[in-house]
Amino acid sequence: METTEEEFRNSWESFITAYYQDGFDRVVMCYPEQRSLEIDYWDLDRFDPELGDDLLKDPDRVVPIAEAVLRSLSPGDEEIGLRIINVPEKVPIREIRSSHIGRLISVEGLVKRCTDVRPKVKTALFRCDSCTEPIRVEQEGLSFREPVICPSCNSNRKGGFTFLPNDSIFSDFQKLEIQENPEELRGGEQPQTLAIHVEGDLTGSIWPGDRVVANGVLHTKQRIFGTTKLREFNIFMDCISIRPEEREYEELSITDEDVERIIELSEDKSIMEIIIASISPTIYGMREEKEGLAIQLFGGVPKRMPDGTRIRGDVHILIVGDPGTAKSQMLMYMGELAPRGIYTSGRGSSAAGLTAAAVKDEFGEGRWSLEAGALVLGDKGLVCVDEIDKMKPEDRSAMHEAMEQQRVSIAKAGITATLPARCAMLGAANPKYGRFDPDVPISEQINLPPTLLSRFDLIMLIRDLPNKEADSLMAEHILKAHRLGEEMALGREVEGADSYTPQIDRELFKKYVAYAKKNHSPVLSKEAEEKLKNYYLDLRGRASADSPLPITARQLEAFVRISEASARMRLSDIVSEEDADRAIRLIEHSLRQIAMDKETGMFDIDIIATGTPHSQKSKMLKIRGIIKGREGEDSRGAPLDAILEECSKSGIDEEDVKALLAKMRDTGVIYSPQVGFYKMV
Ligand code: ADP
Ligand code: MG
Repeated sequence: METTEEEFRNSWESFITAYYQDGFDRVVMCYPEQRSLEIDYWDLDRFDPELGDDLLKDPDRVVPIAEAVLRSLSPGDEEIGLRIINVPEKVPIREIRSSHIGRLISVEGLVKRCTDVRPKVKTALFRCDSCTEPIRVEQEGLSFREPVICPSCNSNRKGGFTFLPNDSIFSDFQKLEIQENPEELRGGEQPQTLAIHVEGDLTGSIWPGDRVVANGVLHTKQRIFGTTKLREFNIFMDCISIRPEEREYEELSITDEDVERIIELSEDKSIMEIIIASISPTIYGMREEKEGLAIQLFGGVPKRMPDGTRIRGDVHILIVGDPGTAKSQMLMYMGELAPRGIYTSGRGSSAAGLTAAAVKDEFGEGRWSLEAGALVLGDKGLVCVDEIDKMKPEDRSAMHEAMEQQRVSIAKAGITATLPARCAMLGAANPKYGRFDPDVPISEQINLPPTLLSRFDLIMLIRDLPNKEADSLMAEHILKAHRLGEEMALGREVEGADSYTPQIDRELFKKYVAYAKKNHSPVLSKEAEEKLKNYYLDLRGRASADSPLPITARQLEAFVRISEASARMRLSDIVSEEDADRAIRLIEHSLRQIAMDKETGMFDIDIIATGTPHSQKSKMLKIRGIIKGREGEDSRGAPLDAILEECSKSGIDEEDVKALLAKMRDTGVIYSPQVGFYKMV
């Protein structure tokens, strides 16, 4: 039996008064700061399942009626909107089909992009040019509706009506684009997206990088090619309610049984080895690198200081390596293994690149919208950036803030926003000139400025050097992996697959990491603190005025983060001396590869921090002195011969002098007014 409109209104009215009288009164009292009533779908369902069903099936009819009821209940002329939450029809973005069009559904996703908030006309007022009578036209749908005929004088002259924007009623309007959450993607899939239109008090509350649950009605817009209307349609959601999601790791749903297994694992004496053996077992060797990656997964504890400063807990790692050393493979593996992992390339797959960008015309209307890049989308996760040296110039400057303060600020085209980017970053870079050259400082070999390099807690170098024994073991490992793969593809039982199988299966591993991060925030023990302090003071104490600076406070923070992560790996709440030892060992391993002064065998942090090793710096000072000393002798500057001669007296060889002169000229310390002559700038 069809319900009449009248009965339908009455049902809604009794529902509101029965369940939401208080809520409604509150909205009325706070109007216009609050201008909508939030209704839980399940209340409606409990009140009258048929009413709930109608709402799901035909929201375009039901919502205006319900809103009219709200208007009739309100004492004044308040336009109170209806916001429905907990819509039961949850549809993954990937599974949206034409059968969902016109229905009330719920989607979850990550906000990738949003436009600025703009007015949209709701009730347009026109003046008839013939009789000057006003005409009201209620606006619905996508295109602007103009009067066809004047109700007063029956004029139907085309263009005979003037739009009066100042007397029309507008509401706020914004477009968002959401994409599938990273953990719902199966390795390497491109996330699918959905456009969402929000209006009124929902605008301006959501930012790129937010995870949201959006409830709304799916509508279509016809695609147009030139002037031809196509049969194909685009879909978008007219939003009825949208909320940021606060869940973090619960999305993995860890059961009591899981917890039991996790705790049992954590008590194993060799848990560290088990964890390391669970990281990309197909990749041969790389013990230290894998240990670093394990540390990164767990991460240190972020801290908020009493003065409001925030110190990151996330560990950033850079892998620099010769081509074909499994860097990309390792990054992809980590992107899948980490809870909320993302794998991307430095070039970025979208306009937003790695950080964020204000982009024009992405929705096809010449408006600006703000788009989140990988580090924002990977908030609270691990972002693996392959070929990070190829990142866009716009990203380079934003990257400093993203890595240290873990946020991205943007101020462009009237859009100002600060988006959170609390992620750990795993980068991979190839040496600029093909292979790594141990005689050249790292900052000259990869296309990243020292200011960025020094923000990585660990930089690991993978060199591809021929070594008979290692080569043979690696070849055996790789060939055996291929054979196993082939046999498994044929459906055969295979022996020896164990060494290629992660010791902890991937699902449990993810849960282990999520559980550790959620439940354990280890604190430094007195012994661990002493150990780190002594190590730091000892190293710095060895430096004198004219020797290189071995280490800075940046590394001290890295020690703390790595020790904390190490304790977390075995679910400990206390950082032990052994954890501090591990941090020292890993950082030493990293510094030895990339920040060691060849001549003295001492660490020289300036190789990373400033890009100029101490040994080079003192030679540069010498050259500077020579050029300065000859100022005024010759208007062309100091001749190369004289510089070479004086330098050779100080034991600096010719090749070095020439390289340093070139470097000083490139960095703008000196210039060459004529070939073979140098002057101070
Ligand atoms: P990169 O990104 O460092 O240039 P890739 O990740 O593309 O290198 O690796 C090239 C190939 O070499 C991959 O198929 C990888 O499996 C193989 N490979 C390189 N090093 C190893 C290793 N140590 N163990 C197993 N396979 C390796
Ligand atoms: Mg690669």
